[in-house]
Amino acid sequence: MGEHTLDVTDGLVTDLYVGGKLVPASDGGRFDVVDPATGDVVASVADGTVQDAVAAVDAAAEAAASWAATSPRERAETLRRAFEIMTGRAESLARLITLENGKALADARGEVAYAAEFFRWYSEEAVRGTGSLVTAPGGANKILVVQQPVGICVLVTPWNFPAAMATRKIAPALAAGCTVVLKPASDTPLTALAMAAILDDAGVPPGVVNILPARRSGAVVSAMLHDPRVRKLSFTGSTEVGRVLLREAADQVINSSMELGGNAPFLVFADADLDAAVEGAMVAKMRNAGEACTAANRFYVEAPVAGEFGRRLAERMGSLSVGPGLDENHQVGPLVNEESAAKVDELVRAAVGDGARAVVGGSRPDRVGFYFEPTVLVDVRPGSAILSEEIFGPVAPIVTFETEDEAVRLANDTEFGLVSYVYTTDLARGLRVSEALESGMVGLNRGLVSDPAAPFGGTKQSGIGREGGHDGMLDYLESKYIAVQW
Ligand code: NAD
Repeated sequence: MGEHTLDVTDGLVTDLYVGGKLVPASDGGRFDVVDPATGDVVASVADGTVQDAVAAVDAAAEAAASWAATSPRERAETLRRAFEIMTGRAESLARLITLENGKALADARGEVAYAAEFFRWYSEEAVRGTGSLVTAPGGANKILVVQQPVGICVLVTPWNFPAAMATRKIAPALAAGCTVVLKPASDTPLTALAMAAILDDAGVPPGVVNILPARRSGAVVSAMLHDPRVRKLSFTGSTEVGRVLLREAADQVINSSMELGGNAPFLVFADADLDAAVEGAMVAKMRNAGEACTAANRFYVEAPVAGEFGRRLAERMGSLSVGPGLDENHQVGPLVNEESAAKVDELVRAAVGDGARAVVGGSRPDRVGFYFEPTVLVDVRPGSAILSEEIFGPVAPIVTFETEDEAVRLANDTEFGLVSYVYTTDLARGLRVSEALESGMVGLNRGLVSDPAAPFGGTKQSGIGREGGHDGMLDYLESKYIAVQW
């Protein structure tokens, strides 16, 4: 055990966390973290180099054998302590998330609770033994299957859920007995570094978790993926970057899990409970101001109820207050950076240029910060980019449909396959449509699917593998088969 002295409550952690110590970058480089509500610099963080990446893998390698050899109970109790500590720091962590990501404080509090839950769930899972011993069909021998930690893991996370995307990877990896190097997104490194303090205080031995912010992410991650000691890559981010990393991982045939982009359809049938559908739409669209891979991106509504659904959704969206996330009067914070706000603006302008109409919102408010107004678009032309690209902002484009087959066809008309939402009171239809939808997850009369106990992940170009639940731990284990002469 190292000296567990890092304390986020005393201030921000802004150095690299390698081998249980806070260290500056090897070349002394640092980069700025900006508050999206104001554009002001809030901190400068050590900018990890390739040399630091090698040092982080060295530390993970040094700790690997002893961590893999700890008892499941010890790993479970360490994770449980991390849960307790994180929960105790919930409010300061939520504020930190809002400070660097921009999301409304209520969303940040929700994220902290969700993120901490991964520590608790995997503390409980760590002691559930796996493996099997069976007689071979011919009867001459036994087939023993044991599951072993896959080895050193490189974890790469996005900025939209800086705490939850980190714990969704770290918790199962540690439960499985792996050691890790986490590279957080450059917009939100402070939350990941706050996680270092939590894990350190929970008694995670030096080197088991290393956290390496790095603006030169391509070079740093590539160096680790070409290090023969690294055996696993778990990436959450855009499909575009995921493809690049899959190619890199191929060189050493590294076990790769990919949680990539989404383009979630939200289907409302005429028999749906419209109050519930609007409520679900608000959650599926507006959680995190739409900056979620699970965000409803396209609303397909059966023609007889489309007008009413659109009116009610516009009323709810229009009543939200937009402003700095740290001010609790606002339910919608800024988007993460200028580029994101400009991209949402461009998609909305293009859709309107194609004939869509904004019944509420439609533009960037005239204020400092990276804001976009909650927006409902109707009469969206099929083929508009807003229906095929991830919006990642508070914009709901509505399209009508006439038949169930058409709804399923429209929903599946995308290269993504992360999550779909279906609202209907007809159970048979709900299950039939859920099975026909090409996505890894379906919210059936529910606008929120994320749950630490459930297998989260996508099909098609939304990813490979599952995070959360029992499946999430299997991603960090490898089966070894021992043929036993008996
Ligand atoms: P991104 O792909 O730009 O970045 C993700 C991470 O990869 C960051 O840490 C970034 O620094 C790093 N990165 C970027 N380029 C890299 C490179 N060439 N080599 C190595 N690392 C590199 O994504 P983002 O903008 O941070 O996050 C938004 C995206 O993440 C959206 O597409 C969203 O749908 C997706 N996402 C998916 C899930 C999921 O579970 N499926 C969850 C959250 C976010």
